[in-house]
Amino acid sequence: MNIILFGPPGAGKGTQADNLVNEFNLHKVSTGDLLREEIKKKSEIGIKIEPIVEKGSLVTDDIINNLITKMLSKKEFYNRLIFDGYPRNLNQARDLDLLLKKYKQKISCVLSINVNKELILKRILGRQICTNCGVIFNYHFRPSNDKTHSCDPKFLVKRPDDNEKVITNRLETYIKKSLPILDFYDNQKLLYKIDGNGEIDQIFIKIQGIIASLEAWLY
Ligand code: AMP
Repeated sequence: MNIILFGPPGAGKGTQADNLVNEFNLHKVSTGDLLREEIKKKSEIGIKIEPIVEKGSLVTDDIINNLITKMLSKKEFYNRLIFDGYPRNLNQARDLDLLLKKYKQKISCVLSINVNKELILKRILGRQICTNCGVIFNYHFRPSNDKTHSCDPKFLVKRPDDNEKVITNRLETYIKKSLPILDFYDNQKLLYKIDGNGEIDQIFIKIQGIIASLEAWLY
């Protein structure tokens, strides 16, 4: 099964994608992570997109389509992808449909995680990522400590776009460009809405319930 995790920045998509990877042996495709890697490598694409990502706007669909094509064409990931942060606008959603046809795959469900603005800010401003193991922590909700994390605390970093100034643009971009996708997937009967305001573990239980309800027609 291929799954789309949809929601505003700070909805917990990355964390829930990691949970799904562990539970169902899937492969996570976070376009945000892939773009940050390009920026870190200072590749040609990385240099081009850095100012766009820094201000919280969307990079061009061509760049994203190339990244996604690479993933969909890999045999080892056949029908085992979780998209985190993609598609981000209607064009990307339409392009994904074409790519899925080309590579003979389909989306099993779109999980839309909704979170109130106050919590979004707390989640984003408290977010810390371990550059060694890749695990996402949160200063308020899921702190990194001796019990939860074995890497040296020096590896914990904040994302440069996780600040109050950029979050306003990221939220506006989400409302204007990304939200219209929901109708697109609702029409395809793929959309499942999840209240993401609770505890991470409780939200994952809801996600597992939805996936279990799909299995009857998946296999
Ligand atoms: P994220 O890690 O998903 O919050 O993404 C971080 C940033 O990467 C976004 O604010 C955008 O600048 C860029 N980005 C990530 N995914 C996409 C996408 N599918 N389309 C366009 N830009 C994206």
